[in-house]
Amino acid sequence: MKEGKHMTDCIFCKIVANEIPSFTIYEDENIKVFLDISQTTPGHTLVIPKKHVADIFEYDQALASAVFAKIPMIASAIKASNPDIQGMNIINNNGAIAYQSVFHSHFHLIPRYTTKDTFK
Ligand code: ADP
Repeated sequence: MKEGKHMTDCIFCKIVANEIPSFTIYEDENIKVFLDISQTTPGHTLVIPKKHVADIFEYDQALASAVFAKIPMIASAIKASNPDIQGMNIINNNGAIAYQSVFHSHFHLIPRYTTKDTFK
C-alpha cells in the first residue's frame, strides 16, 4: 500500500511528510504513531494511517487491516513501557458531531494510571 496523496492543508499529512515535527514512537509503510501534542494523560498517543482518509467511513478493507491490526501491539508496547499504566482508553472520533477536530483519521491511545491520572 502506498501513501495517499499529500493534503497540503492537513496537519497530520504534514506530520507524515515530516514537514512539521512530531514525537514519533513507531512507523511503517502504512501507519505513523506519535504522541498527542495535548497529553490527556502521560503517553497519550495517536495512531494514524499515512494515507489521507478523513474518518472511519473512508477506509477500505486493506487500509483497515493495515491500521487496525497494529493497534493491540502498539497499545501493549505503551503499557509495557510504564508499570504504572493499569489500562487504556482507545478512542476514535468520526465527524464534527462526534468531536473530531482533525479530519485525518486517528485513534487515541490514552493510558490510564492508578496515579497521575486526571482524565475523567
Ligand atoms: P479532539 O481535538 O476533540 O480530541 P480529535 O479526535 O480530532 O478531536 O483529536 C485531534 C487530536 O490531535 C487532539 O488530541 C490534538 O491534541 C491532536 N493534535 C493536533 N495537532 C497536533 C500535532 N501537531 N501533533 C500532535 N497532536 C496534535
